[in-house]
Amino acid sequence: VLASLLSVLLASAYAAPAPARVVLVTWDGVRTQELLGNKPSSDVPEITQLNGDQAPLLPHFWSTLVGQGVLFGDYRVGNKMWIGNNAGVSMPGYEAIFSGATQPCGDNQCSRIGVETFPERVRRVLGLKKSEVAAFASWDKIDEAIQHDAGAIHYVYIKDKDDEVFQKGLAYLKDKKPVFLYMMFGWSDDRAHAGDYKGVVDALRQYDDWLNQLVAVVDSMHDMPTTLIVTTDHGRGIGAEWRNHGHAVLADSRPVWLYARGPSVPRLGPAANGSDHTQIDIRPTIEALFGLCPCRGCTQGFTQIAQPPSSCGQP
Ligand SMILES: [Zn+2]
Repeated sequence: VLASLLSVLLASAYAAPAPARVVLVTWDGVRTQELLGNKPSSDVPEITQLNGDQAPLLPHFWSTLVGQGVLFGDYRVGNKMWIGNNAGVSMPGYEAIFSGATQPCGDNQCSRIGVETFPERVRRVLGLKKSEVAAFASWDKIDEAIQHDAGAIHYVYIKDKDDEVFQKGLAYLKDKKPVFLYMMFGWSDDRAHAGDYKGVVDALRQYDDWLNQLVAVVDSMHDMPTTLIVTTDHGRGIGAEWRNHGHAVLADSRPVWLYARGPSVPRLGPAANGSDHTQIDIRPTIEALFGLCPCRGCTQGFTQIAQPPSSCGQP
């Protein structure tokens, strides 16, 4: 009796995390104006490139997917999400996402992240092979944001080619069934800097189609529960400043958004009200999905998506 009681106590305190998969996708520099508005935004002077096209930007997302999960950052229903840094540019954003903290990185020139990231921790704590923690990115700096120990995870860089990132990432998901997969897309930001609003609109419609394809693949995989998370690294300016982001338009670069969909995620659609979130809440959320306690000094994350294990206690 004592032995079985002990085993029950041990099991509750030290339960091995249940198998789980997380797929994280980022769309670089996608504003809430486009994400929430779901049509070309009239504040952009270059909307004239579209010849009156007002068709949806994210038709699958808004007609189907959003209600199958939860969306944070929809300020129209009182929910707010912000970047987790004071720069409003990409590298500080990605470092905040992967580390769960604001890093001493104020621009895109900073060097490799100085702390263990969540993909590295997940691999270490769960005892995963390198091939089970994978990332595909079209921007070279992602390598230095996602792993403090170069070569810790399976990392593939495909310069500027979002379409190859998607094709290779999706094939990897189907063939290798990684426990964590990250896909980073950058056309949305590159084309905005170039003033190519038609190109941004095309990119968002492409991303929506890819997301829909990704969901179909995820739903066809029954080996372990899979949670999908989609977010962005920063917002950008409004009006004539829509091309830009960062210090000069910091207030407008701060609003971001996050979508999650998975077997344990409530089917709420846009979350209403609640406390504000930032990018630093993403890491502990993903770690909780893997059954891990929040990293030291980290927040409790988006607890509507995943609760940290009860054995973690209060922060
Ligand atoms: Zn940019």
